[in-house]
Amino acid sequence: MNRQQLIAKAQRIVDTRRNDALAQADALHKALRADAVWAQNERALKQAQVDLVMGRGNADDLKRQINSLTRKQNRLLASKGLTAADLQPKYVCTKCNDSGYVNGAMCCCLQKEIRNLIIADSNVINVNYTFDASTETDKHNLAIYKKARQICDGQGNILLIGGTGCGKTYLLTACANHCAQTDKSTLFVTAYSLNATLLDAHLSDTATCQAVLDSLVDVDVLVIDDLGTENVYKNVTAEYLFSIINERIARGKQTFVSTNLSLAALRQRYDERLFSRLVDANRCFVAQLQGADKRFPRPNA
Ligand SMILES: [Zn+2]
Repeated sequence: MNRQQLIAKAQRIVDTRRNDALAQADALHKALRADAVWAQNERALKQAQVDLVMGRGNADDLKRQINSLTRKQNRLLASKGLTAADLQPKYVCTKCNDSGYVNGAMCCCLQKEIRNLIIADSNVINVNYTFDASTETDKHNLAIYKKARQICDGQGNILLIGGTGCGKTYLLTACANHCAQTDKSTLFVTAYSLNATLLDAHLSDTATCQAVLDSLVDVDVLVIDDLGTENVYKNVTAEYLFSIINERIARGKQTFVSTNLSLAALRQRYDERLFSRLVDANRCFVAQLQGADKRFPRPNA
């Protein structure tokens, strides 16, 4: 989805809320009018209000009449377990009454829907993994968080190395969420699912294969979680990955990768060309997160 499609889709979500609120209020009014006493009182009240506005009749008398009819209406409502507030539409956002705009500016509720759609579009699995929500306290890791965030806001690639449980996926997801929220088109994939996609593409006709590769190259930020857990298919895995990452570097697109493997193991697993693109010192921030198990102090800590 492009930006305009996202805004239109978010607006439809907000519009649906408004329509629901109005329809609910309307249904209540209709149900109340089935009561003849209510209906008669409501008509009299409206008439008195119109007369007052139009200057028909004695204003003080009309005001007294309106007060009396309003009190009767409230008594009728109370007898049904309702209050005057129940007659009003129940908007989800009271800032904009679910219109999406306040004084011509986009309301925060519409902006939130747009952000949610961008994140949904980006395939990110956990939207709660964010920089701000992180509970990381390790100084070394916090320095990596800081640098990673700067890269998200700017340019460059990231390769996160570290053992199971050191928080690679958390940080990678936080990067993806951050980029998606700052309007970069973002795609989050596991190496496993990416590899399956590449194999499918390889087995498809040339046009389909190219379309898949183009979509992986076009996205502003490609996030690949857990590189090294996928099967290495001959003529597929390393070859397509190289082609995608190489093209992305050429176009200045950002790629963030996490892996359980050491640099030596990465080099051994993929060919030298792919390895050199993955850890390219000029463009890539290579960082090793530490401390899978924080219960025990590290030596030198
Ligand atoms: Zn709003």
